[in-house]
Amino acid sequence: MTDFSFDLMEICAPGVKALKPYEPGKPVSELQREFGVRDVIKLASNENPLGPSPRALAAVRATLGGMAIYPDAQAYELRRTLAARFHVDPACITVGNGSEQVLELIARVFLQPGTNAVFSRYAFAVYPIVTQAVGAAGCIADAHAPEHPTAPYGHNLDALLAAINAGTRVVFIANPNNPTGTWLDRRALHGFLTRVPPRVLVVVDEAYAEYIAEADYPECTRWLSEFPNLIVTRTFSKIYGLAGLRCGYSLAHARVAELLNRMRLVFNASNLAQMGALAALGDDAHVRRSAELNRAGHEQLQVGLRELRLKWIPSIANFLMVDFERPVRPIYDALLHQGIIVRPLGNYGLPHHLRITIGLPEQNERLLLALEQVLAA
Ligand SMILES: *Cc1c(COP(=O)(O)O)cnc(C)c1O
Repeated sequence: MTDFSFDLMEICAPGVKALKPYEPGKPVSELQREFGVRDVIKLASNENPLGPSPRALAAVRATLGGMAIYPDAQAYELRRTLAARFHVDPACITVGNGSEQVLELIARVFLQPGTNAVFSRYAFAVYPIVTQAVGAAGCIADAHAPEHPTAPYGHNLDALLAAINAGTRVVFIANPNNPTGTWLDRRALHGFLTRVPPRVLVVVDEAYAEYIAEADYPECTRWLSEFPNLIVTRTFSKIYGLAGLRCGYSLAHARVAELLNRMRLVFNASNLAQMGALAALGDDAHVRRSAELNRAGHEQLQVGLRELRLKWIPSIANFLMVDFERPVRPIYDALLHQGIIVRPLGNYGLPHHLRITIGLPEQNERLLLALEQVLAA
């Protein structure tokens, strides 16, 4: 292949230069290829171990024959159903190819060179990526210290407020946060919203909201009428078990949503995604089952980790961030050789931690046994 006669980086958009792509969890097929291990379990990407609702599967199957036809660009039925569920107007909803695409739309609409987005250290890695991609600056607020009593490594709202300056357009907050599992309660987050300058948009990413039973967990969708600068994102990738289908959405003031929808490519959500998501919304029993399974698995893992004398960060999501108090690469590799994929967090600046998704009871058991062996070796 002939190489370019000039520096290709000179013609690419400035934001691209510093970009480091998101490191996803290792796919099962890759591990099978590399190590020849069979019976691989993936506890690396916070997917629902129960899979999707049978209703969602049936709806996707029933839609397959319509693949030659472009999807509904307005996602009319899906938006109407979401609007009814959250007591908002359908005009407040933006559907994305996964909620990460909605996050990207927010960056493309509201950020540009000379402006900045504020987020916490250890916040979800997509925020710095979408910010850099459009050439805006990321202002990183310090997180709580590892010794913090309730939310070690968690979002520090005072630090986030202090990081906001005249160039700030967006604050990204994941509640609960991935990869830490830490969360903000209703009073804290509401107080924060009252203190943020009205010209700054606050994105609250609630990817795990449906898992959460804590009484003072704030479902921010109720605050949309109070704070026009609030954008709440949700996804079908986590409790709904549809990560591979790619569907997420945001709720926001109708004028914000109108801008996001202007930037959105018209056919960004496939007809399979729209129909699968719609059917998933109609199966509350599957959601309940998934949340219950997660709670039991949470307990099982915590008991096992305690027996292994391991420390973890208190989490209300479907994963735990475990602190091995030493570099985890050898542990991660040894688990891979046993056919277990978890998530190293070196790219988050957390080389002593692994993020482990809560799986089925037998998967959790296999993980704990493997950890016991690996740590004894
Ligand atoms: C998994 C996750 C998402 C969801 O991404 P999709 O693009 O909807 O699959 C969004 N935010 C956070 C914090 C997540 O952990």
